[in-house]
Amino acid sequence: MARKDLDWENIGFAYRKTDMRYRSNYRDGAWDEGGLTPDADVVLNESAGILQYCQQVFEGLKAYTWEDGSVVCFRPDLNAERMYHSAEWMEMPPFPKERFLSAVDAVVRANADWIPPYGSGASLYIRPYEFASGIVIGVKPAEEYQFRTFTTPVGPYYKGGATPISIQVSDFDRAAPHGTGAIKAGLNYAMSLHASVIAHQNGFSENLYLDAASRSYVEETGGANVLFVDRERKLIVPKSSSILPSITRRSLVYVAEHYLHLKVEERAVRFSELPDFMECGLCGTAAVISPVGRIVDHGREINLPSGMERAGEVIGELYRTLSDIQHGRLEAPEGWIRRVIE
Ligand SMILES: *Cc1c(COP(=O)(O)O)cnc(C)c1O
Repeated sequence: MARKDLDWENIGFAYRKTDMRYRSNYRDGAWDEGGLTPDADVVLNESAGILQYCQQVFEGLKAYTWEDGSVVCFRPDLNAERMYHSAEWMEMPPFPKERFLSAVDAVVRANADWIPPYGSGASLYIRPYEFASGIVIGVKPAEEYQFRTFTTPVGPYYKGGATPISIQVSDFDRAAPHGTGAIKAGLNYAMSLHASVIAHQNGFSENLYLDAASRSYVEETGGANVLFVDRERKLIVPKSSSILPSITRRSLVYVAEHYLHLKVEERAVRFSELPDFMECGLCGTAAVISPVGRIVDHGREINLPSGMERAGEVIGELYRTLSDIQHGRLEAPEGWIRRVIE
């Protein structure tokens, strides 16, 4: 193995073409054998289903180098499970879960030179996805699909510790009740781009979306679930059928209960309750948790008591505990770690 000579601490979150990716095609009602390819380009007919009606689902997870040199993935079985469910929702043939895991193993091993070293804070980001490659013109599910998985090394989301961000309440809705909010599909991101450009123009890092039906409950941001901490150090987790079931959030709930011995409440959270909370954070694979210091609703500011200088106490403990589990510094619960390279 000859690890690439990159400035690992400063590579940022960007696409970098690595050596190999995994590809399998679905034709005549079955997935082919699949395998690795160096070809990063996808060639499609002009009327492919993905190009016309956006039939696509995806996942995102990371591989980490541990201090002993081994490489692990964090709960990839849950990504396999979630993508299976997302595909079914989108009338796409789901990619078998065992094969999803083998594909992840294969791309990590084939791109071993690109896996950032222990201690750099960087990791190998893995992007499995499936899209309609078959031709459609009338509106219907395509007959042919492709499953791919590529990798790209990504830097630590925060250099020198997490600084709290400001977010704004969006004027747009992310997901309709009974809609696609709970599946991981590109279409949920396509509609968020306009809102996200506006949020950035207004000086905010993210949009906080409220429930589309009543606009009185907190849902999530464009790509991360939201967590709150109340005055009793209880973790308050918004619950709704249109929130994407974040693996990071589900893991943090377990960490809160079993490692930090905190009480956790998963329930619908009214926007009007926010001034009562002490801390807030956004959670997802990319950053684990981004602390939120300020939430602005059309000029009305909610300043979290944890402030804009550093993460709140509980959010900080959750971040450190889960990061330590992912990097092998703290024993993980049974089944959370998949060793890919010994
Ligand atoms: C992927 C995603 C998340 C985070 O999920 P993780 O499994 O923790 O990475 C949160 N919200 C949305 C909308 C997402 O697409």
